[in-house]
Amino acid sequence: MGIREVREIGDDILTKQCKDVSKMTLRTKILIGDMLDTMYEKCGVGLAAPQVGVLKKIVVIDVGEGPAVLINPEIIETYGEQTGEEGCLSVPGKWGIVTRPAKVKVRALNQDMEPFEMEGEGLLARAICHEIDHLRGELYVDKTEDGLHDTAYEEYDEEAGGEETEE
Ligand code: ZN
Repeated sequence: MGIREVREIGDDILTKQCKDVSKMTLRTKILIGDMLDTMYEKCGVGLAAPQVGVLKKIVVIDVGEGPAVLINPEIIETYGEQTGEEGCLSVPGKWGIVTRPAKVKVRALNQDMEPFEMEGEGLLARAICHEIDHLRGELYVDKTEDGLHDTAYEEYDEEAGGEETEE
């Protein structure tokens, strides 16, 4: 277990398509443990393998309800819409407004390579969409409605009329 370096925007690896995981190996188990450690260390709610430099379809998510590990995840249904703030450990110090489904149903494999389905609403739905985008080499910065904002200025600029729409 350990903390891995998080790749940042501008690094080519973040724009590449990830490959399916075909079997669970010790190496992949260690990777998943390290991804969880790294996510918690950086106070993120999700992390995708390419963010630590590995082009495999693995994401870890914890929005405060305990960790979820999704291998080869696929969104099979979406419901509704939500518009709110989004950030990314690979784009430090920034946030943007992104519209995502309000609820998603995802199919994936667990760490024993057994298929399962999971539903997520609100922040969990947003995190699932955001992390699965990483597996296709997509970053939220290309989906923002009014560009990127600097977190350092937010508390001054937004204090009076800021809206919190994220759950
Ligand atoms: Zn991200």
